[in-house]
Amino acid sequence: MSRHFLIIGGGIVGASLAYELSQSGQRVTVLEQHAVAAGASSKSFAWLNANYPDTPEYFALRLAALAHYRALAKAHDLSAFLRFGGSIWWEDEGEAFDAHAALLARHNYRSEVIDAAAFARLAPAIKNPPAKSLYAPEEAGVFLAGLTRWLIAQASANGAVVQTGIAVDAIERRGDRVTGVRTALETLSADHVIVAAGVLTGDMLAGLGFQLPMSNNAGLLLRSAPLPPLLDHVMMTPDVHFRQDPDGSLMMGEIFSGAFEAGCDIDALRSSVLDRVKARLTSPAPLAIAQTMIGTRPMPSDGMPAIGPVPGVKGVSVAVMHSAATLGPMIGHILAQELLSGEQAPLLDAFRPNRFSAQTPSAGEPAP
Ligand SMILES: Cc1cc2nc3c(=O)[nH]c(=O)nc-3n(C[C@H](O)[C@H](O)[C@H](O)COP(=O)(O)OP(=O)(O)OC[C@H]3O[C@@H](n4cnc5c(N)ncnc54)[C@H](O)[C@@H]3O)c2cc1C
Repeated sequence: MSRHFLIIGGGIVGASLAYELSQSGQRVTVLEQHAVAAGASSKSFAWLNANYPDTPEYFALRLAALAHYRALAKAHDLSAFLRFGGSIWWEDEGEAFDAHAALLARHNYRSEVIDAAAFARLAPAIKNPPAKSLYAPEEAGVFLAGLTRWLIAQASANGAVVQTGIAVDAIERRGDRVTGVRTALETLSADHVIVAAGVLTGDMLAGLGFQLPMSNNAGLLLRSAPLPPLLDHVMMTPDVHFRQDPDGSLMMGEIFSGAFEAGCDIDALRSSVLDRVKARLTSPAPLAIAQTMIGTRPMPSDGMPAIGPVPGVKGVSVAVMHSAATLGPMIGHILAQELLSGEQAPLLDAFRPNRFSAQTPSAGEPAP
């Protein structure tokens, strides 16, 4: 029997879940306060990788997510969004480089240290290739906004109702059960509500009395005007990262692990990022900036995804994480299976929202 699932948020996470649930014949409504992919999903570098094996559970999750992308790309023509060319990484040098290479080797991650000559054969458009870099052939880049819109279009074709320009003002509950949501226009009932509201997820859940601490952080990205085909690989250099989307445009960002400083001079930073790319890339056409984006990464405070039932209330789940460019489609798949079967997937055990429950003040107690 089909149930009504109401998803708050039309980013890659909400879109993936809508796609999966609608594929199973469920009644699905997506409410998006702006436009589909208006949030982080249109301002993401969107490097698909498992290159930072922080914990065994997180590494396993990211590996499974890459495999999920491959399966999705096999089943559908995603060539307008997806480029499985691998990455070349030399963000760190010296001992830090060796340590990272050894870490990936210990995890049997498909990657190899290559010299400058091998680099030049793989990526001839890059000037002065480094003496040592790490080539990870199974990684990819994705035009994430395009993929998000494609997933939403598939969901709509399956019968999902997608409303944009409508914000959810509150999640409605009766006793210990969520019954639907309230917007400025109406109250909508649902059998199950899923909060996939990106950086605003913590605020939505606070209304239910559950504190999901978030440490969202921003990053600057530039998109160039389309160029002829130059790059198959995601380039992760010590001072800039860039890759080429299938439409020919380059996505360029600051140092990948660097934090964007609020109040910084954006014009100066934009010029500096562009200069860093120009110093590394030979382009037959001038490199012009078509779009400047400041995106904010939705990030639970411990850096790990929060996926599954919201503690203390029935009928509501959450799905929020950084790296949802990599993880989103697979999380949509697993979460849909959990919601339909009622069985919890062991792959998500380490990422349940209830790990934050101890920090949730009881009713009436002020938050610290
Ligand atoms: C600069 C940057 C670089 C990144 N690089 C990478 C990378 O290389 N690899 C990687 O895997 N990930 C990367 N990410 C992370 C990835 O892009 C995000 O994790 C992902 O886009 C989050 O998707 P989402 O659907 O959770 O959130 P979003 O895309 O933000 O979608 C949430 C949606 O919810 C809507 N919403 C919020 N509140 C309400 C409400 N009350 N009612 C209705 N709608 C609401 C918002 O409008 C928004 O559209 C990067 C992110 C940034 C910002």
